[in-house]
Amino acid sequence: MGLSMKVRRYAIVSVTAFLVAGGFTLAHPQQAAKPAPAQQQDKPAASAPSAPKPNETQAEEFVRLVKEWTTGPEFISPLVDHLPIAQGVPTPKDVLGHHIGAPKILTRTGEALKYYRALEAASPRVKVMNIGTTDEGREMNIIAIADEATIKSLDRYRGYLGQLADPRNLSEAQAKEIIAQAKPIYHLMGGLHSAETGPPEMLMELAYRLAVEDSPLIKQIRDKIIVTITPASDPDGRDRYVEWYLRHMTEISNERDRITGPPYWGKYVFHDNNRDINYSQMSMRALLTWYLQWHPPIMHDLHESVPFLYTFSGQAPQNPTLDPILYGELPMFANFEMTQMIKYGMPGVWTHGFVDMWSPGYLAFMSSNHNGLVRMYETFGNGGATTMKRNVAPAPGAGGGGGGEAPAGGGGGGQTSREWYRPLPPYREVTWSMRNNTNYMQTGVLTALEYASSFPQVILDNFYRKSRNSIDSGKKEAPHAFIIPAGQKDQTRVSTLVSLLRLQGIEIGRAKGEIKLSDGTYPAGSLVVKRDQPYGRLAKILLEKQNFPDANLRTYDDTGWTMGLMLQTEVKPSADKAALEIAVEPVNEYKVTGSIAGGEKAGASPAALVVANYGSNAMVTLRYALKDVAVQAAEKSFKVGATEYPAGSFIIATKGDVASQVKSAIEPLGLAAAGVAAMPDVAKHDVDLPRLAMFTTWGNTQEVGWVRHAFDTFKVPFDLIYKERIKEGNLRAAYDVILIPNQGRTGKGLVFDIESKGKPIPYTKTDQFPTLGVYGSSADITGGMGLEGVLELNKFVQSGGVIITLGAASFFPAEFGITRNVNASRTSGAFYAPGPIVEAEILKPTHPIFYGYTAKTVPVRYANGPLLAVPEADRDRQVLMRFTGGDGAVMSGLMKGANEIRNRAAVVDVPVGEGRVVLFATNPCYRWQNHGEFGMLFNSILHYNDMRQTEKPGATSSTTSMDADMDAQGAHPYQH
Ligand SMILES: [Zn+2]
Repeated sequence: MGLSMKVRRYAIVSVTAFLVAGGFTLAHPQQAAKPAPAQQQDKPAASAPSAPKPNETQAEEFVRLVKEWTTGPEFISPLVDHLPIAQGVPTPKDVLGHHIGAPKILTRTGEALKYYRALEAASPRVKVMNIGTTDEGREMNIIAIADEATIKSLDRYRGYLGQLADPRNLSEAQAKEIIAQAKPIYHLMGGLHSAETGPPEMLMELAYRLAVEDSPLIKQIRDKIIVTITPASDPDGRDRYVEWYLRHMTEISNERDRITGPPYWGKYVFHDNNRDINYSQMSMRALLTWYLQWHPPIMHDLHESVPFLYTFSGQAPQNPTLDPILYGELPMFANFEMTQMIKYGMPGVWTHGFVDMWSPGYLAFMSSNHNGLVRMYETFGNGGATTMKRNVAPAPGAGGGGGGEAPAGGGGGGQTSREWYRPLPPYREVTWSMRNNTNYMQTGVLTALEYASSFPQVILDNFYRKSRNSIDSGKKEAPHAFIIPAGQKDQTRVSTLVSLLRLQGIEIGRAKGEIKLSDGTYPAGSLVVKRDQPYGRLAKILLEKQNFPDANLRTYDDTGWTMGLMLQTEVKPSADKAALEIAVEPVNEYKVTGSIAGGEKAGASPAALVVANYGSNAMVTLRYALKDVAVQAAEKSFKVGATEYPAGSFIIATKGDVASQVKSAIEPLGLAAAGVAAMPDVAKHDVDLPRLAMFTTWGNTQEVGWVRHAFDTFKVPFDLIYKERIKEGNLRAAYDVILIPNQGRTGKGLVFDIESKGKPIPYTKTDQFPTLGVYGSSADITGGMGLEGVLELNKFVQSGGVIITLGAASFFPAEFGITRNVNASRTSGAFYAPGPIVEAEILKPTHPIFYGYTAKTVPVRYANGPLLAVPEADRDRQVLMRFTGGDGAVMSGLMKGANEIRNRAAVVDVPVGEGRVVLFATNPCYRWQNHGEFGMLFNSILHYNDMRQTEKPGATSSTTSMDADMDAQGAHPYQH
């Protein structure tokens, strides 16, 4: 690694004065002089930007270069304008070859880890902990920094925090005693969003500074608290973005010339790794697991978008279930940081204007959800390390995000006005550099750590108090418990619900006897989530109906997420306090094992096995697991003995060793089957497996990513195809079904995708950039499928293919006339529906799409898809499900203007030529959340060639011949 450790003198070049006021230390802004204005960054900085001058120490060099890289004297603070040198401890430059904030340089995760490991090897104040791996096999790590004695006793401190996190067995006196000995962990996370490139760089310098600097402030931080760091929350995305930046973006210094980012960050999703409420993604899950082992009272996520530094203060709408203490803590920190940074002369630090406290699904909310404190910054960033002239307040309509998340409804504008919460606003125009970003973020973080280390016992006491209050609130406030009644037909979704709650540390018990409460009676074996537990508040937040507080407020993400509705699994709140006394045994895992019943009655070799379809998503997995076996689906319900088998149940003739294949497949899937002596006398069809393609644009792979993730999880194989394959044509020869997940926003967006600016943008693997060209590859990702692609898709349908469109992708067949008679329009400007759960009515209960659905109405997540209109003559046949509409049909969350969707089509099945198009206005595969809707999508794939009932009477010959044709061609690879 080549640590050329020269003899260095210890130096802090700019000494910050400190004063003690009112018992705590305040960093003082006074310093001898602000650095002179730096030159603009117009020289080619890539060439050895930190080459030392003769006889210059690294500390002097740091000061000189940082001054040069910082685009104005007001964009730096006395906390970060110097670099302490400690003998034997490597600076970032010693390992990486450059100082942090160097233009046109970004660090891959492997190099960063090398640095942290070198720091750990050299400093007893640093410890690196592995917490898992990513989808692509990269390490996930946590870096802990504190004084030497604390690092030696990390487990002891972790024990204290564990006791405060669950204070059920603590007296007040014991809690006080623990608080007196404990230290808060202040956790910092960078690199969740890969285009937000600054935090993973800054954190290395911060780690070094915290480990070696001997200023009173840093000593206080090391002494009083434990700092932990996630260097990159999405390491796969970080590396891919760095390579993309190095390949395509280093020379782009004009905001207007910026190009699109890489088609992928991590394996599946982009920004939605910050919306993964059920922790489905590996890296998010690793962080949650670590969190629940270490209980950091503060989790601080470092993002980039708005200028210059926004410190989250938890504005309205706020989830009222969370502790009021939290809502005091949030602005307490934010205001301290803003005030300090204003004192340092840094403009553009503000609070209270961006992102609210409604959705619990953001990654760092794992902290506030578990009685800690969530913190978040948005620092201004350029989407890379190239210094750039930025128009901070662009004209309305022009985009202005920094490669980071776009502010809701705000573009980049509206953030430079002076407001009560923004007394020293950002400039309208600025030349901004990576070092500016480092300076701001690091100054903010050091100021936050200053505050935390000034009041460590307050933070610990708050944490303890919030944990205790959560338990108490379950005793004082209804609902006191949530009951998951025993006997639900589909046990697999009950199992999923339990595992998602357990993942978050929520305790669940199984009732030993019958439950009799004033508001309900439930059989023995029902599951009980009592609210008088440390995470009782989180249980309430996840399981209750969301009552959005004010229809005039806007929110940054979803308003509804009620888990029982999303999973279409029964969960009953109880307002009876007696629920807390129900005798239960703890449930760690709710394992459902499938079985075959009635084998004896049917004799040793039954004629067939029947697998009940109660709506389990495992049905699709079973079908694919038995891909070489002939499986039929009952088109109506039928009875075997006393058991009713709903429509869509599988019937499998037991030839050869089929019975043992079925048995070994259904056991782990938790499905219920029975052997029958004779084939059931019921209308049925073959469940053929289609040759399936999933189409994605290059410009919007995230929503497709969620579907890919679900299909991978449920083991549904598919080809991921892009514009290149569509334009190649002859699609019908290769595929039976092309699924187009929610993407594009409009038909035009889907077809034309990323605008070409003349120069091709390749996404291909090279020796230098091995993470590019993964999950697909293209010599030019711009331009979209174009009209020639539309023609190919039209040919595909006309010649018997099935296209399934989800959410906004359903604009495409309507707008481009593939479904000539279906029109798609939009809701009015007054309509506002950020992800509520609404009621939908199934109009064609016998259509295969609804196999496993037995109720007339179902809860669906509203996806803001098109308002579909079908001509009256076809409506009765083709509209399979519609939104009930109206305020009464909003089951959770907010829908403003709910009359606009009254009786609008939610799912349409349109025969076209020899094929068909199935348009979902809903998104039946949304963020690993609406498991209750997944079945409609899986059914549309499993029964793609059995949807004849939407055709005109007498016009069925085309389908019949389609089936016959395809059978003759052997087009069903899995059919026997
Ligand atoms: Zn972000």
